[in-house]
Amino acid sequence: MDVEKVRADTPGCAEVAHLNNAGAALPPRPVIETVAEQFALESLIGGYEAAERSAAVVEHFYDAVAGLIGAHRDEIAYVENATRAWDMAFYAIPFARGDRILTTTSEYSSNAIAYQQVAASKGVRVEVVPDDPEGTLSLDALEDELAKGDVRLVSLNHVPTHNGLVNPVAEVGRLCREHGVLYLLDACQSIGQLPVDVGEIGCDVLSATGRKFLRGPRGTGFLYVRQGIVQTLEPPFLDLHAATWKAPDGYEIREDARRFETWERYVAGQMGLGAAADYAMEVGIEAIEERVTALASALREELADRPGTTVLDGGERPSGIVTFTVDGHEPAEIKTVARQAGVNVNTTSPRSQGYDPHALPSAVRASVHYYNTEEELDRLLAVLP
Ligand SMILES: *Cc1c(COP(=O)(O)O)cnc(C)c1O
Repeated sequence: MDVEKVRADTPGCAEVAHLNNAGAALPPRPVIETVAEQFALESLIGGYEAAERSAAVVEHFYDAVAGLIGAHRDEIAYVENATRAWDMAFYAIPFARGDRILTTTSEYSSNAIAYQQVAASKGVRVEVVPDDPEGTLSLDALEDELAKGDVRLVSLNHVPTHNGLVNPVAEVGRLCREHGVLYLLDACQSIGQLPVDVGEIGCDVLSATGRKFLRGPRGTGFLYVRQGIVQTLEPPFLDLHAATWKAPDGYEIREDARRFETWERYVAGQMGLGAAADYAMEVGIEAIEERVTALASALREELADRPGTTVLDGGERPSGIVTFTVDGHEPAEIKTVARQAGVNVNTTSPRSQGYDPHALPSAVRASVHYYNTEEELDRLLAVLP
């Protein structure tokens, strides 16, 4: 990878050592320009007129995202963030009393809240599959639970938000297919840092956000729904884009994944997210994964050597998210000190961790991207107490 070039493409690299890519990454120039130019055009000729003029680029979003994850363009919906993308699919599942949802200890709290809401309203049981000794979802335990029957949904994250593990999502996919169970994957933290191929993973539904490792604009996300099941999922909300009014009192729902969209949208953001997908493909997802993994391992090693510093990441194959604590210092204090030195990190809190039984403490989260450098990691290490 030409690190100098990707940094030159990223104006933010000259401003800050940005190690908060799991929060929101720095966008590259093509994303910045796409969004800025469309907003400028809207301001000059009108929003509807600008959308018409840019129609081909708006449509290109579906090809770009489909290409990134190995899907068909009809399987992609543009949604304003990953949470709503996930919700639109999750709340479309026709649960019945007694159905079981299987998830993982590291599940994102928003998803966990939705499970509990449906558990209360529909009499569904939510079961958290235990971890293996490395801290990722145990495949043996998942297989045992699937064999007991009544599983309506397996739903989990690819990479959690609060520590650096990677779940064995393709193995989960194989088990789901064996048992004919619906599989929903939250790929918010993996898209843009790891290869995410829906065919290889074998998921039926996948949600992702624009602003994290994919380097798209804030307020953007997408949903993938496999063609074979899209018509079994009736979105909880429909508008005149998702469905067509049939006089006098009927309607017909779209047959593709765009049934999960709304008509009104952040058009510039959709175009920018398409540009971000193109950019990631151009840099190369395998090269991105290699560099992110190498930088994160280097940081973990340095941190592990420091007395009083504890690295909290689990899993056999860690991600680009590095979480740690420093004895006697609050994570928020470290974040502030780092910010003053021009280094962005974030903190995690047990509140975002859903069912995690290890109850990880609040921690500092340094999430690296391929445009980061060893020198930037040293800048962080230099300001740590
Ligand atoms: C950030 C995140 C979300 C939510 O994404 P939004 O785009 O903020 O709605 C969901 N799941 C995980 C694992 C995340 O890290």
